[in-house]
Amino acid sequence: MRAHNFNAGPSTLPTEVLEKVKNELLDYEGTGISVMEMSHRSPEFSDILASAKKNLKDLLNINDNYEILFLQGGASHQFFMFPMNFLTKDKKADYIDTGAWSSKAIKEAKLFGNINVLFSSKDANYNRVPSWNELEISNDAEYCHITSNNTIFGTRFKDFGDPNITKLVADMSSDILTRPFDINKFYMVYGGAQKNLGPSGVTFVIIRKDMIEKANNGLPTLLQYKTHIEKDSLFNTPPSFGIYIIKLVTEWAIKNGGIDFLEKESKKRADMLYEVLDSSDFYIPTSDKDSRSLTNITFRFKDESLEKPFIDEAKKQGLIGLKGHRSVGGIRASNYNAMTTEGIKKLIEIMKSFENK
Ligand SMILES: *Cc1c(COP(=O)(O)O)cnc(C)c1O
Repeated sequence: MRAHNFNAGPSTLPTEVLEKVKNELLDYEGTGISVMEMSHRSPEFSDILASAKKNLKDLLNINDNYEILFLQGGASHQFFMFPMNFLTKDKKADYIDTGAWSSKAIKEAKLFGNINVLFSSKDANYNRVPSWNELEISNDAEYCHITSNNTIFGTRFKDFGDPNITKLVADMSSDILTRPFDINKFYMVYGGAQKNLGPSGVTFVIIRKDMIEKANNGLPTLLQYKTHIEKDSLFNTPPSFGIYIIKLVTEWAIKNGGIDFLEKESKKRADMLYEVLDSSDFYIPTSDKDSRSLTNITFRFKDESLEKPFIDEAKKQGLIGLKGHRSVGGIRASNYNAMTTEGIKKLIEIMKSFENK
């Protein structure tokens, strides 16, 4: 029996997708081999890569000024790769510090340029993100970096500011494919696939193609975006099996109604859970109402000693991965696209009966 998997990442994938992987594992479409065993330069893999890119492009409404890349090294690799390509010691970038991942991105960027932290909610244990009118993006900044959804603290930017903001760089690891956004506001969007898009080992990067004209010279070939754009993610062996799973997940997403449907559904599930949190003083949500994440719902117990028994009880009933990150404590229920309404209902049922007990 499949568990209801609330892990923050790697995380739940659609059962339908896993069934398909299983069916195709030994013999992919009559080739007699697995995608794992296939040359990344074969016509079959070329089709897989092209479909994964096209599906993402269609789902997110990405225009031809942008290139989609599948790289390795995780979101953490992009923390330094972007500044390495676009900053120098006399150039400046704005960063918004809304959690552990933002501050890691800041730490790496400082190795390459002058980093201006526009906002930080660190003193309030990162319980919120700023509103755009609290921020003044520097005219002389090369770009402004944000973490669109803060996986650990359960907060997110509800929107990406007014249309004249067009130099954002966003870590969208944990909310990609949960809402439509206007790509024209971004120089680059990136993240690890393992939260909402596929398995670990693949990093998605959506970068404005003309950025390469501004990139620094003299970097190792593998660390230049230019290389990966020119070679269509095939400069060296890409994470091919992971790309195949992204293809299947995006196919599943399109078949199920696309981005508007996914957004509506994840909002519906998140609202159900927040409603329970708001109507009880037994459970305490940790993030500000205006900053609440749809994908990572964090809360604590009024009586902290109940945390462990709750997690144990949930586990007994087939719900796993609910323990909050050590820096926040409490519970984190991750609500990615493959989470089901049934899973959320089950969680709510357990929460209610646990409270009554
Ligand atoms: C998980 C996560 C990361 C780290 O991703 P890796 O692929 O492990 O490097 C970075 N940022 C956010 C927002 C995340 O959720």
